[in-house]
Formats: sequence, C-alpha cells, structure tokens
Amino acid sequence: TEKLLLESEKLTAVGQLAASIAHEIRNPLTSIKGFIQLMKTSDDISKAEYFDILADEVTRIELITGELLMLAKPQAHDFHYADISVIIEDVVTLLSSQALMNHVDFNMKIESLPKIKCIENQLKQAFINVIKNGIEAMPHGGMIYITVNEADTNIVIEIKDEGLGIPKTILNKIGSPFYTTKEKGTGLGMMTTIKIIQTHNGTFTISNTNKDGTTIRITLPIKQEFN
Ligand code: ADP
Ligand code: MG
Repeated sequence: TEKLLLESEKLTAVGQLAASIAHEIRNPLTSIKGFIQLMKTSDDISKAEYFDILADEVTRIELITGELLMLAKPQAHDFHYADISVIIEDVVTLLSSQALMNHVDFNMKIESLPKIKCIENQLKQAFINVIKNGIEAMPHGGMIYITVNEADTNIVIEIKDEGLGIPKTILNKIGSPFYTTKEKGTGLGMMTTIKIIQTHNGTFTISNTNKDGTTIRITLPIKQEFN
C-alpha cells in the first residue's frame, strides 16, 4: 500500500504538470487558430502584422517545448567530456548582442579547468537561462559578474547581477513550473536549470539581497558517477 500511495502521488504531480503544460500551449494555439480564421475571411486588411503575431505565438510554443525537452531522462551515452569555461564563454558570446542592447556588461574571472563529463547542450541551456534572467533583471543596464573556479572536488560557477533582486516572499516559488513575474516569461527557465544541474549531480543556490541583485551559485562535481 505504501508503494501504491507513492505512485498515486506521482500521478497527481504528473497530472498537475500536464494540465499546466496543456494550458500554456493551448493559449498560443487558440490565438494562432483565431488569426488563421481571420486571415481567411478578411482580404482587405494588411496581413503582415498577422504573420508577426503568428510567428510570435509559434516561437512561444517552440520555447516551451524546447525547455520541456530538457526534462527528458538522459542516457549514459549523452555524457561527454567538455570544458565548462569554454561552455560559459560560448554562452556569453551567444548572449552578447542581447546584453549590448540592454546596456549590460560582463566581468569574467574564469580559471582553466579540468574537463568534466556532462551533457554540453544541457549545461549551455542552464547557463543561458541564468544569464538571461540576469540581463532581464536589469532594465537600466549594469554588470554581470561571472566567476568560475575549481574548489575541492567541484567546479563552482557564480553568476551575479546588479538587478532588482528577488523578494524573499517569492524566493520559494522560483523553479515552480510556469512561475514568472514577466509579461512574456515562460516561467520554465529556472525549473529546467535546476533539473539540468540535478542531472549533473550538482547544486544550485540563489542568494540575494534586494538592492544588491541576485547571485546564482552552481557547483558541479568534477568526477561524475555515471561513466
Ligand atoms: P522567466 O524568466 O520566463 O520568468 P524563470 O524560471 O527563468 O522564468 O524565472 C522565474 C522568475 O524568477 C522570474 O520571472 C523572476 O521573477 C525571477 N528571477 C529569476 N532570476 C532572477 C534574477 N536574476 N533577478 C531577479 N529575478 C529573477
Ligand atoms: Mg528566465
């Protein structure tokens, strides 16, 4: 009976997640359907703006499904040796135009590191999610400080922004599926990031004071257990 109970709890969690995913995907789908209908019946209105809306809605579905794919259970053969500092430098390059547009600068202190066994694409996504949040937390620009070093048996990555910070009252909601305070947020970034770090047997901590911004600290064991 104990096992049965556990499984029914799991099913409840699955049901809740499925319901919220369905809801989040149905919204843009409904809007896409509506605009297709509208484009079919009206020929006098310029359709360019409709295409823009359609593209936006499709992008949203793409974002949501892309994040959810990161939750799939990885196989041992998905793990390969990679250099975390190179991954982070790649991510910063990837985000540099968004940073520039938002008047955000990077200050990087990156040690040379031993390669670790990891799923490179997943870690890339995790760092993108964290750094993007940092950029989005600074509407008037600022600095993002990134330090990467080796401490004992771990690689420690710290990403600190000078943004608005996270109020204590919402700190425990961060990482819940679809929790967002942003108008166009998916609320999936932190959930997937935490999942990815768990997959790598690492730790993920948020610390912040409201006026000093937010610091995310990620540790990854150098020696991974799965081989
Ligand atoms: P999204 O970015 O789509 O809102 P996330 O899961 O990435 O979803 O983040 C959830 C919420 O956590 C954000 O909406 C924001 O309120 C808060 N948050 C995350 N990172 C930061 C940060 N660096 N500074 C301030 N708030 C943050
Ligand atoms: Mg985000």
